[in-house]
Amino acid sequence: MALYTKQALSIYNSLTGKKEQFTPIHEGNVGMYVCGPTVYSNVHLGNVRTFISFDMIYRYLKHLGYKVRYVRNITDAGHLTDDADEGEDKIAKKARLEQIEPMEVVQEYTVDFHNILQKFNCLPPSIEPTATGHIIEQITIIEEILEKGYAYVENGSVYFDVVKFNEDFEYGILSGRNLEDMIANTRELTAQSEKKNAQDFALWKKAGPEHIMRWPSPWGDGFPGWHLECTAMSTKYLGEEFDIHGGGLDLKFPHHEAEIAQNEAYCGKSPVRFWMHANMLTLNGKKMSKSTGNNIFPAEIISGNSEFLSKGYLPSVARFFIMQAHYRSVLDFSDEALLASEKGFHRLMEAISTLNVLKPSGKSSIDINAWKQEAYAAMDDDFNTPILIAQLFEAVRFINQAKDGKATLTTDDIEDLKNTINAFVFDILGLEDVNASADDNVDKLNGTVEMLIRLRKQARANKDFALSDKIRDELLDLGIQLKDGREGTTFSIN
Ligand SMILES: [Zn+2]
Repeated sequence: MALYTKQALSIYNSLTGKKEQFTPIHEGNVGMYVCGPTVYSNVHLGNVRTFISFDMIYRYLKHLGYKVRYVRNITDAGHLTDDADEGEDKIAKKARLEQIEPMEVVQEYTVDFHNILQKFNCLPPSIEPTATGHIIEQITIIEEILEKGYAYVENGSVYFDVVKFNEDFEYGILSGRNLEDMIANTRELTAQSEKKNAQDFALWKKAGPEHIMRWPSPWGDGFPGWHLECTAMSTKYLGEEFDIHGGGLDLKFPHHEAEIAQNEAYCGKSPVRFWMHANMLTLNGKKMSKSTGNNIFPAEIISGNSEFLSKGYLPSVARFFIMQAHYRSVLDFSDEALLASEKGFHRLMEAISTLNVLKPSGKSSIDINAWKQEAYAAMDDDFNTPILIAQLFEAVRFINQAKDGKATLTTDDIEDLKNTINAFVFDILGLEDVNASADDNVDKLNGTVEMLIRLRKQARANKDFALSDKIRDELLDLGIQLKDGREGTTFSIN
């Protein structure tokens, strides 16, 4: 029986502002869509936090036994520099400035994005669709919305008619905004604006002659609006209604609000059962911003090459730090906080090593099952990783007590504890056991040198001194020194 049948998972739904019991639309299957990056620059640390949070959520859903289809898109067209549908396409702008093809920009930063997420041990999504790969799907949806009367064509562009939509549905339901208030609080449209109302948003934008990213459409050459791609790709791969839609809190309005409106206008259904939003990251108590210089890139955490850091950190330490806060809380990043997380991380890893050599007793003095339930309860309560980590440190405490003979554990309990901790630490939190891999590599190196020593001994026995000297000298070049003694040959690594 799948674990999800025994665990009651509740998720905070941004749409209702409440924690709700999670049951997927199709039993045993979960469809999850997360808004991916716009690939025109190196991925921000704030975005990495969001993707690490949803990676943990993906991992826990899988751990519970769900078959999860996780879709995370790549925005490679349509995201304008100005959210009010004005300005240049972010990717086209970068291509113009660097005098390269837009797809070269896309390639460079998609590769960077994948490299960074891989370093932080994020699992790849099940599908990673691109906006440019789904132009036909987007045009089809626009035609449908036009036909239903919730959009209008103006000078080769198509706009979503928010006021018309609001007559039949409700615009602003996710962000808790009311259309009348929004209208009252906005300045009047400038004379050049093609929109009927300031709240309307572009489904399709006409491409001017200078615009290099363009596709033919029934309304002339142009490119899709940013919000539309997520509607096209989520419905294509997850259906008109699916379980979870995630993203950074900054996407709630207008991006996710627009997605709801588009979907309702297109197929009459609200697309998502659970809207989930990961909160932002600050640096030393202040908003991160490239323009003020209060900024740090994910790769700099690893290299330590930043004025804000005293040294480089393991990606797992940074991930552990992120997991020490709840995904819906603001997280403040600082060198001191990372140093503290590093200590905690190593303490946890040491306890896991200790667990592997613990001597069993006939009787347990600790209730492992009760501890395990508490750990699951933390994750079932809207993926509460800080509480889970507190539970893991509770386990660290009794593992160390057992090592010192102040507590006892049976063979079965040690096994259960080992499996549970490994599942939470490595499979769900996605941390990597750096000690284990380093130890493993040392074992391999030692084995290789021992083998070369045996080959050298064989060569000497065969009077092949040229070969035996070559083995010794080449090892020395690599910093490995052989010492011949009465007990045989030993070695040291410099
Ligand atoms: Zn999106």
